[in-house]
Amino acid sequence: MEEQKIQEKYMKEAIRQAKKAGEAGDVPIGCVIVYEGKIIARGYNKRNQQKSALGHAEISAIRKASKKLGDWRLEECTMYVTLEPCPMCAGAIVQARIPEVVVGAMNPKAGCAGSIINLLQMQQLNHQVRLQTGILEEDCQKLLKDFFKELRRQQKLKKEKPAGGAQKTEAADHVR
Ligand SMILES: [Zn+2]
Repeated sequence: MEEQKIQEKYMKEAIRQAKKAGEAGDVPIGCVIVYEGKIIARGYNKRNQQKSALGHAEISAIRKASKKLGDWRLEECTMYVTLEPCPMCAGAIVQARIPEVVVGAMNPKAGCAGSIINLLQMQQLNHQVRLQTGILEEDCQKLLKDFFKELRRQQKLKKEKPAGGAQKTEAADHVR
């Protein structure tokens, strides 16, 4: 299989993970980690579910991959993630020595793989990551767009019918 096809195959699985997050009411962001041509870890955003700022897809996948390989170093692995990593996750990728990251959509407001800063490729750090962006970009963007569109629709409905307890909803802040 040519490289692009392979990358799309894994990104599709990351998108499947992202959808799980969306179904549970979390911002749809998903991630897989591949080792020797096999997916060894999957993760999706569980920030609301876990009520934890650490509940990001990448952190969860890194944890699982390390457990599987019995090593905190993920030196032979490639990460596929639907949205450009935040500062925390970009930091974790560097810490885990992941050599290659493939990104779907960019995140101009919070991304740290080139949008605001590129923590994955800082010469001053002791680890640099090979980075590829824009794999199934439109599909990855659409996930988020649809999610926020639906969220706004529901918020509007709630405003029109103010019944029941005030449920906390989050909008754009979600992706940060
Ligand atoms: Zn993150």
